[in-house]
Formats: sequence, C-alpha cells, structure tokens
Amino acid sequence: MTNTKCQFVVNHESQETRVAVLENGILQELHIQRADTVGLVGNIYRATVIRILPGLEAAFVDFGGHKNGFLSLADIDTPRLTNKANSGQEASPPTIKNLLHEGQNIIVQVIKDAIDAKGARVTMKVSIASRYLVFMPTGHAVKVSHLIKNGDERKRLKTQLRCMLEELDVAVKPYQGSFILRSDAADIDLQSLRSDLQFLLGTWSSVLLAKSQSKSPGSIYIDLPVTQRLIRDIAPQHLNEVIVDDQQICDEVYHFWSHYYGENPLTVTCVSHAPNVFTDYGIDDEINRALFRRLDLDDGGYVIFDEAEAMTTIDVNTGSHVGQHELEETVFQTNLNSISIITQQIRLRNLSGIIIIDFIDMQNQHHRQQVLSSLKKLMGNDPINAMISGFTELGLIQIRRKRRYNSLRQILMTDCSTCHGSGVLKSLDTVMLEIWRELSGAAKAFETNRLQLRASSEIINFVKASKVSISKALERQFNCTIEIVDEPSFVREKFDIVSI
Ligand SMILES: [Zn+2]
Repeated sequence: MTNTKCQFVVNHESQETRVAVLENGILQELHIQRADTVGLVGNIYRATVIRILPGLEAAFVDFGGHKNGFLSLADIDTPRLTNKANSGQEASPPTIKNLLHEGQNIIVQVIKDAIDAKGARVTMKVSIASRYLVFMPTGHAVKVSHLIKNGDERKRLKTQLRCMLEELDVAVKPYQGSFILRSDAADIDLQSLRSDLQFLLGTWSSVLLAKSQSKSPGSIYIDLPVTQRLIRDIAPQHLNEVIVDDQQICDEVYHFWSHYYGENPLTVTCVSHAPNVFTDYGIDDEINRALFRRLDLDDGGYVIFDEAEAMTTIDVNTGSHVGQHELEETVFQTNLNSISIITQQIRLRNLSGIIIIDFIDMQNQHHRQQVLSSLKKLMGNDPINAMISGFTELGLIQIRRKRRYNSLRQILMTDCSTCHGSGVLKSLDTVMLEIWRELSGAAKAFETNRLQLRASSEIINFVKASKVSISKALERQFNCTIEIVDEPSFVREKFDIVSI
C-alpha cells in the first residue's frame, strides 16, 4: 500500500455523515454515521438487563437506545464472572442464567448497529483503542498486530509495553488489563508509547467514573466521530488528503490530525459545491453500483453478488460464446479481470463472514494458481483481516472475512414489501390458478350465485387476456356470475373474493 494515494471524501448533512475512502481515485470503502441509529459501534454504555432469553442463551439489555440491545452468551467475559459460581465444583459450561439476572447493571459496547427491526448487538467484552494500542480491561495479555511482520520489532514492542505495565503495577496498584499493539506502533519510540498508554488508561478510568456516577442506562464513552475514527483505524500512514463539505468537520479533522499525526503532511480541504461533494466525485453513482446484484466487466464477462444470511456468493461468468481453442485463455483473462472488481466490492459492500467465489472453471493448474495469488495480493490491501482458502474440490474459493459493522446493503436497504426480500414473485399463471381454486371453492361454499373478484390491475389484465375465461368456466360449472374489479393498490399476489 506504500504507493497508494489515499483520500477521504466527507459529506455531511444534519442527520448523516458519510465518509468515502478512495485509493488511487477508486472508491474502496464507505462509512456512514447517522444520528442515534447508525455508527454507534465502539460506544460504551451503562446498561440494564431487561430480559433473559435462556433458549437463545442471550439477553435483551436497555442501553438507552431506541431499541434494546441483544447480548449473547459468547459476548460475556465468562472466566471472571464464573469464578465464584464454580468454586469447589466441576466447571460446567456457563449459561446465561448463571451469569446475568434481570435488573442487573452492566457495561456493554455496541458491536453491530441495529438493522430495521433488529436491535443493536452489544458485548460485555469491552475494548477501547488509541493510536498505537487497544485496551481490554480483563486478562493480562500483550499481543502485537499481525500487520507488524518484523520479529525483532514485535519482541521489542512487547517487552517495552510489559515493562511499562510492571512500573504501573508498582506505582499504582496490581494492574489488570490486556493490550494489543496496533500496526501503527511499528518503530515508535518509548515516549510515544508511554504517552499513548497513559492516554488510554486515563480514558478507561473516566469510563469507570462515568459508570459509577450514572444512574440510568446511557452512554459512558463515545468513540471518535466517524472521520477521525477512520483516520485512527485505517489510514494514518498513507492518508494524503481529506476533502470535506462542512467547515466545522474540516476544522475538527485538521486539529485532530495536527495533534496526533502532525509529523506527516495532510491536505484538508473544505469545499462547498452543490448539490454535494459525493456527486462531484462520482461517489453516489459508485454507491448505487455497489447495491446492484450484477456488475459487468469490460471484456463482456460479468459478476453476480448474492448476499444471503449464511454467506455471500460471488459468481464470475463469461459473456458471449468464444471459440473452442481460445476458451481456456478467455476464461483465465475474465477471471483475472474480475479480481479487482471483486476485492473492491467486498470492501465497499462490506461483505463479511463466509464469502464463496465461483470463478469460471479453469483446467490449467498454472492459471488457477495465478488467479489465487492475484486475489490474495489484492485482498492484502484490505485493512480487515481475511482468510483465503485455495480452490476446493468443486473449484470454489472460500474467504472468511472478519465481521465489522453492517454491510452496505444492511445499512441502506430494507426487504421489499412485495416479495419480502426473496427477490421473486409468484408467476402470473401461478396466481391465476390460485384464484381459480379459490373461486371454485367459494362458489361451492357460498350460497350465492354472485361473486366478486378483486385483484391487481396486472392480474385482471392477465385474466382478461387469457384464452380460457375463468368467469365463463365458473359460470358454466357452478352457475354463478363473477364480477371482476380492478384494485390498483393490490400487489400481484394479493386478491380478494367476496360474495355479493
Ligand atoms: Zn421485491
């Protein structure tokens, strides 16, 4: 990533801030913060347990948000909490009921924002980040980010941090907490590390103080605003430019940068274009593309993205037919071409969990290897850690990408009220046959010889255009007349049959 030019483009409206991350002019990530609903991840709250859900091994907690948060057993620090309960007995697997009770006050951190009807996901495994460190209040571990590769440097950082923590132990009290040295910590001097540690521990004490002083559920630690958080988390070493369409954010970002990262140059520009800075940079168009299921490649091939609950599948396809002897070469080129789009879209759509890529079948082992290594190389630019498998027996590539924030689709979209998210509707024939069954049932059931069918315009037109007239057939069979009423507000699958 050393030669990458990295820009943030920030669009601010009263209810929403959007940050686009561009690398060499190409949109790679989009982050959205919306007042009170989107972008609470990282914030810490004093919360009250509202309801224990033993069947789910989870609990609902009130953290002062619009909806209760969801806390699952896996997100509770069990060793510390179970010590007492388990003393003198065989350790049995902890259950939510042994760990929490209704009305209990706890500290939680949001790990996933609410989506539509689902509340936010929260954890009791709290962590806070500074420029060089991440702090977790339990355990005693010191770990180093996998992005720092140099073994000597890893060792040096670990030793120095351990020394500082031992000094703390003596000076203050037996010290508790675990740390991760972040990638940005590579090659820093002792003084920078010490002041970062002091800053972080100071922040944690103020969280504890805020918790002890708060009387009701609510926030006790608010992470940085989205732009500053992104500077801290993804781009301090290679950010070149921030373009903002709001003067206040522009000033805040400038001060934040000069305070923490002042040794590196950064251009911070405030622009005031109409309608907004995203339109100027073509970012809105790119966002819309990132919601499409199908994206076309330059050579006629295309890629299909299917984001489902359990996993995301990405399917690469060739366009038109090609000559037999050129086939393997064309397939190889299409697969290669698709990789930059696939890796960009994985970050931009923020796909996570299990991702399966179905490249077009390649016979040539060498081609397969090249596709795999190119994919690994481009995925390497992604700040979120991902594991990539080789080709499986069926020729698929599996990726497991760490979950962080909701996907773009989850933030921006909601299930279609017509198809309820399935993306498909019953065919006109299917609906017409349903209507036929219902009508003949009604003709038998009602003691009337007049029925009314109310259905969508689409269905009515289809019924009227069909060769077999439903009404005539029913009239013959059951000796009853059928009045057809066009109901423009109905969707395709909805109809009513009433007797009159
Ligand atoms: Zn739909």
